[in-house]
Amino acid sequence: MRPITIIQLYPRDMNLYGDWGNTLVLKKRLEWRGHAVNIIDHNPGEATDFSLGDIFVGGGGQDAGQIAIQDDLLSRAAELKKLADDGVPMLMICGMYQLFGAFFTTKSGQKITGANILPIETKAGENRLIGNITLQSETFGEIVGYENHSGLTLLHDNATPLGRVIRGAGNDSDGKYEGVHYNNVIATYLHGPLLPKNPQIADFLIDTALKRRGITDRQKPLDDTYAEQARIIAKKRPR
Ligand code: GLN
Repeated sequence: MRPITIIQLYPRDMNLYGDWGNTLVLKKRLEWRGHAVNIIDHNPGEATDFSLGDIFVGGGGQDAGQIAIQDDLLSRAAELKKLADDGVPMLMICGMYQLFGAFFTTKSGQKITGANILPIETKAGENRLIGNITLQSETFGEIVGYENHSGLTLLHDNATPLGRVIRGAGNDSDGKYEGVHYNNVIATYLHGPLLPKNPQIADFLIDTALKRRGITDRQKPLDDTYAEQARIIAKKRPR
């Protein structure tokens, strides 16, 4: 059988605060359950066949990194939108979360046009929003992570947030909601990386990918004791 393929979007420019760890978690959890995994890096200018992707992952980046990938992202936006609309699972963190929306305007006033897959738009705020953050999500329960962004993200009326902020800033400085959950796309500001401390989200992405490949067997439960301990410690850390 063809391996389960994870496409990592723009790792050269968009991979901050350990975001590549999300891909590693997906790979390990799939392998522990007996699935072969293939990781494909996609960087600007490469002719990656996106139809091979079972899961797409994107990380955070400096404003300069976001500018560097903009042209390539726009040239592949229609393909990515079709895949997202078809239900392909994707995890987009921070800088890539912003660029899956309509646009991100940087502090210097430069407007970076996004792929327009998510019904959101982002403008840089006056202060960076940095610190440990906890959310409560209807789908995923408690989510623990770390945010570091200047962008303030406005959700359009038809957007569903990923969760309600328990502690932290979230999408904008009012601290009410964080991230977006659109179809099977999870988009969030949470670094850390996100998945080691939130295996329930990793398994959502994995289960969705496997189902799309016709694998409906119940997946072996994994021992998440360390993840649980990491969550407890992260929640005790000062903001
Ligand atoms: N450059 C963007 C911002 O500051 C994204 C930052 C990030 O990915 N950490 O909002």
